[in-house]
Amino acid sequence: MLKQANGTCEGCGHAAPFLGVDGTPFLEVHHVRPLAQMGSDRVENAAALCPNCHRRCHLAADGKAFTQSLYIRVKRLKEEHFDVTP
Ligand SMILES: [Zn+2]
Ligand SMILES: [Zn+2]
Repeated sequence: MLKQANGTCEGCGHAAPFLGVDGTPFLEVHHVRPLAQMGSDRVENAAALCPNCHRRCHLAADGKAFTQSLYIRVKRLKEEHFDVTP
């Protein structure tokens, strides 16, 4: 679904580090707004990231800021706003 990324990570701009078993560049789909927080499964909410950048979104000290920067870097992405009651 995210083949428009052309095998390039949308986080760092580098080519995917290896080919997957199906022979296509391996990138992981990251939902910029987590599905658990009512983010959608649409391409406006999904970025194609290399494993490094994907882990960075989830685990890095600057993960939140890095994720937020995707909205600026990737024009396709649209920030989704919903009222979420914790
Ligand atoms: Zn990357
Ligand atoms: Zn993710």
